[in-house]
Amino acid sequence: MRRSFTDARRLDHPSTRRFARPDVVHTPRVWLAAGMDSAVENALRKQIFDWVRERAEFNGGFLHRDELLYYHVRGEKLPIIDFSRGIRNPADFTSTLSIVSTVNGPYDDAESDDGLLHYAYRKGDPFTGDNRKLRNALHTGSPLILFRKEVKNIYTPVLPVYVVDDEPENSQFIIALDESFTFIPDIRHLTTPQREYARRLAKQRLHQPAFRTRVLVAYESRCTVCELKHASLLDAAHIVPDGQDLGAPTVNNGLSLCKIHHAAYDQNMLGVTPDYEVQIALDLLAEIDGPMLKHGIQEMHGRQLTLPHRRRDRPSRDHLAWRFAQFASAR
Ligand SMILES: [Zn+2]
Repeated sequence: MRRSFTDARRLDHPSTRRFARPDVVHTPRVWLAAGMDSAVENALRKQIFDWVRERAEFNGGFLHRDELLYYHVRGEKLPIIDFSRGIRNPADFTSTLSIVSTVNGPYDDAESDDGLLHYAYRKGDPFTGDNRKLRNALHTGSPLILFRKEVKNIYTPVLPVYVVDDEPENSQFIIALDESFTFIPDIRHLTTPQREYARRLAKQRLHQPAFRTRVLVAYESRCTVCELKHASLLDAAHIVPDGQDLGAPTVNNGLSLCKIHHAAYDQNMLGVTPDYEVQIALDLLAEIDGPMLKHGIQEMHGRQLTLPHRRRDRPSRDHLAWRFAQFASAR
């Protein structure tokens, strides 16, 4: 599905932002009858996954609640999340479609230090209802979507994920972020390399996308340097890099930057003073080249950052100072 430039601008502009209702897609009506053939369910699941990926990419890595609630197939509403229950088990699906991990939420679905997610049984009978369909995902290997929700009404999708174990003694399922874990016979006793791999995956597939969502939402999906508003072209850049003492993935250690300004920032071609002023490296200012250098880089020199509305989301001056010292000494 392609959107026109005008559509994209209208959808992404903060002052007029609203989220598109999904287009109607064509799927045989057979699934609407009682029960659904597994091939039809798999095809529909894939179609939903593709759509979620596409929308998330367009929006900058996340979906709005309304986009997920108003998904339609052939004119029939098929919500991708269950807003009130946090687990989505469409009546005609044999296994779970999606779960929501609410950070600091009421359910014990926290990540563990082995890089896997421990998802608490839903209320009620552990062998019927929601729990049955989640358990069925374990038996069939059927993938599902994990939505990470940290900001009100905003969902960061992680997909596909897999149910890899059932622990009745702890009333929880174990969710892995990669299909490879479905082939590990003893998920409860991971080897050190397996555990390290799971932790790396959690960082790449949970923490980094969640950081991007938090930062883009705080900056209303625009580049803090040039104000570009195409979310799919925006990244969340660390001010103090990941791995340094101050390099936490918090919004006040982040900047919403378009791809070119992110790369320029990482390479110390562009710096930001603790007073939120953009500086371009002197050698680049002296260079003569085409319009990208002139308009895209040199003309940014001396601009003030466009900051988040909420004071607590604004970049930390201490972090900016640390990073600006790197910029100043680099060239
Ligand atoms: Zn930019």
